[in-house]
Amino acid sequence: NQARSRAKRIHGFSYSIYEPGKDRAPSYEGLLESDIWTALKKGQFELYYQPRIDLRTGKIVGAEALMRWNHPLHGLILPDDFIPVSEQTGQIVPMGFWAIYQSGRDLALIKNAGFDLQKVGVNLSFRQFQDDHLAQTIHRIIDSEKIDTRILEFELTESALLSDDLHVQQSIGELSKIGIDFSLDDFGTGYSSFALLQKLPINALKIDRSFVSKIPSSSDDTEIVRAIINLAHNLNMGVIAEGVETRSQLDFLIQNNCDQVQGFFFSPPVPLTDFMKILRAD
Ligand code: C2E
Ligand code: MG
Ligand code: MG
Ligand code: MG
Repeated sequence: NQARSRAKRIHGFSYSIYEPGKDRAPSYEGLLESDIWTALKKGQFELYYQPRIDLRTGKIVGAEALMRWNHPLHGLILPDDFIPVSEQTGQIVPMGFWAIYQSGRDLALIKNAGFDLQKVGVNLSFRQFQDDHLAQTIHRIIDSEKIDTRILEFELTESALLSDDLHVQQSIGELSKIGIDFSLDDFGTGYSSFALLQKLPINALKIDRSFVSKIPSSSDDTEIVRAIINLAHNLNMGVIAEGVETRSQLDFLIQNNCDQVQGFFFSPPVPLTDFMKILRAD
């Protein structure tokens, strides 16, 4: 399968089911892997929330849920230090289900506190789409936790779309039928085709931080950001800029009709209780 081998090249590892101990020297990675099982069992993962701001109203209309690991010895560990490993070992599959389950519980708390969010994004790894039961399991979690599917949005990277075209399209199709939205994360850095953008029910493009960080000074990046905003709107999608850190980046995005932003200029990702404080003050 061509798409599969292309995705495999991009990610540089094989999809074979991981067998503990086999062909593997003890390494920090190996240690981390057994740590990850412990973390799942003992509830050491936590979702932080980064506000999403609507540029027409200046109000918080949503958030992105981002995983954090409260490690008993190493303290707070960020995703870049455990997501890639968990994608290699396949542990991202149960971790991803946990994230959906937890976001559902958090959404209920947010709602009960009287806040009405439009969308909360939860990241899905390309690796989760290799699980044949993805849509089915998500469905089950949504039912058991009574998650409001209108609020839930899954953030996919372009690599997820490449990994296995038909299966991915089926899973996305099934989930979108029950009202879940999808956004395309880190847009502009991957390999998605216009054909796929048209074919899949994608509701929003998220402009990668690497472009946002160089506006408005780099003329190439300003043109790329403008092009992505126009592309999204012409295809009837929303557009969200990631990693907004400065006033001048924000001004540029407002002038160019970007819909929403998230970034340190407003807030970094914060624990749920702090996110609720931010909502209360907004
Ligand atoms: P992402 O989904 O593109 O998330 C945005 C990342 O940019 C987050 O990093 C966020 O903290 C960071 N960010 C937001 N605003 C700014 C800013 O203004 N400046 C800078 N320098 N950074 C900003 P984080 O939380 O470390 O997550 C990194 C990546 O890990 C995420 O990128 C996502 O791909 C992955 N990830 C996080 N949580 C999950 C999860 O639950 N499941 C999966 N599959 N992946 C996750
Ligand atoms: Mg994301
Ligand atoms: Mg991103
Ligand atoms: Mg990213």
